[in-house]
Amino acid sequence: MTRFSTSTTTDVGGHALTIMSRPEEAGDPAVLRAIAALPGLLEEARAALTLVSAVLGDPGRHPRLARVARQLFLTDAARIADEDLQHIKATFTLIHNGLNSDVTLKIGTVIGKEDDDRSEGAVMFRPAHSKRAAKPYTTIVQAFDPNPGLFQSSTWIAATGAIRLTRQAVTGTTPIRNLVHEASHKYAGTGDYRYLDFDPPDFVSRTTPMTDRKKALRNADSYGYLAQYIDVIAG
Ligand SMILES: [Zn+2]
Repeated sequence: MTRFSTSTTTDVGGHALTIMSRPEEAGDPAVLRAIAALPGLLEEARAALTLVSAVLGDPGRHPRLARVARQLFLTDAARIADEDLQHIKATFTLIHNGLNSDVTLKIGTVIGKEDDDRSEGAVMFRPAHSKRAAKPYTTIVQAFDPNPGLFQSSTWIAATGAIRLTRQAVTGTTPIRNLVHEASHKYAGTGDYRYLDFDPPDFVSRTTPMTDRKKALRNADSYGYLAQYIDVIAG
């Protein structure tokens, strides 16, 4: 796999969208379809995040919100406690502000270095002062460390790279969720505590159920799913 070195820049809503791909995939129709879908996806994600902000700004008007938040963030079932609500809102604000500025997206059939990498999205985390982190699209975030000890605290200052998405993640059925998930890593330093599934009417963990609220409140998939839920069901 070569590096993402082919780059095109377009204007989306007054900000630059730079799309990087691998030279050997420059003529791949499936990759080209994904690239063509990105400006529209970015606009849809911005609109969804505006809706998220409106809903979280007036949670009392959305009777099912506390129940959904309970499943995604382990917040209180009857009413989201103020402190938790402020944290969720602040995280979405970071995501929204990030996607509302110049954005660089790396798109390919495979987004990791290895051909057998099967993840649909990724954001690289590096120590903030690493030379390799000094890219025009680098973001400095206070990142959640799900395994404190490695960095000796539950948060650390990290440099995050460009959002990487596979072409499948862009042209599949849940592109907004996928983009918000990765954007929450890049702009808000979230981690992957649990990957979730929507099994109506509940959000369930694909692996072990969530038990730690602190981690759930910093879980990338929880933000992706809440954005999707509000966009599709409450919107
Ligand atoms: Zn993730």
